[in-house]
Amino acid sequence: PHRRITKPDWLKIQLPNTADYSWMHKTIRDNHLHTICTSGKCPNAAECWSKGTATFMILGNICTRACKFCNVPSGRPLAVDMNEPFKVARSIQIMKLKHAVITSVDRDDLEDGGASVWAATIRQVKEMNPGITMEVLIPDFNGLHHLIQQVIDAKPEVISHNLETVRRLTPQIRSKAKYDLSLKTLRYISDSGMVTKSGIMLGLGETFEEVLQTMDDLRSVGVQVMTIGQYLQPSKDHLAVVEYVRPEIFNSLKEEALSRGFAFVESGPLVRSSYHADEHIHALKVK
Ligand code: SF4
Ligand code: SF4
Repeated sequence: PHRRITKPDWLKIQLPNTADYSWMHKTIRDNHLHTICTSGKCPNAAECWSKGTATFMILGNICTRACKFCNVPSGRPLAVDMNEPFKVARSIQIMKLKHAVITSVDRDDLEDGGASVWAATIRQVKEMNPGITMEVLIPDFNGLHHLIQQVIDAKPEVISHNLETVRRLTPQIRSKAKYDLSLKTLRYISDSGMVTKSGIMLGLGETFEEVLQTMDDLRSVGVQVMTIGQYLQPSKDHLAVVEYVRPEIFNSLKEEALSRGFAFVESGPLVRSSYHADEHIHALKVK
């Protein structure tokens, strides 16, 4: 069952070699920041970075969880860098981003799960970058409403939390997160009036029907934006790809999702949670 399958042509990606790409890389490195574009080995880095979009990862680059699909190192994180909100805001300024996506590692070691740093980062980015729109991809904060509320109160334009996979596969794929806890987290966010977004990866052994069920579950808790992408194995130590789902299937899933009332759906082999994130904002006329 774990034989390696060959990557199909539709996943061949453009090499990142533009001048903009090198400049972004240097800015991120010089400011000692972490992006999920690099930590997650994202296949869209060339496209996104050359368009001036990047996803920053805050609260360090070591996660207290260890999901089997994820390329972020896990272990005991370093102390929180109190200057991080400023550094992220400053980099966004230097890069002249109009839309910033921020995510974080999970910090189950911190009493507030990192919620206060999240809030401080959102506020600092907004203060130093007037007119910017922000999407924040947050952890489940163990379902604690008062922590999620801190993020909501900092007023990002979109809050996302990924379900990652269908219900049946969740225990094998996510290390600590639970399907129902993620749905509860999403419900709390959407009940607060925020634009709420979630995403899953395909190719882990899920069936078409299970994906449809997942869409229904997301709609039932008020999620408006959904992303569906192909899981790619970051290294041989990570979960093997069970299937490379064909582009036509991604297209029919997009139709299925739209017919269920999602306001915006990105579905395709190279789609990542933050892919074309700026377009959701325009489509939903958040600003
Ligand atoms: Fe970065 Fe997201 Fe673009 Fe990937 S899709 S390169 S993670 S902004
Ligand atoms: Fe990766 Fe997030 Fe899982 Fe941590 S919680 S291992 S960052 S997917």
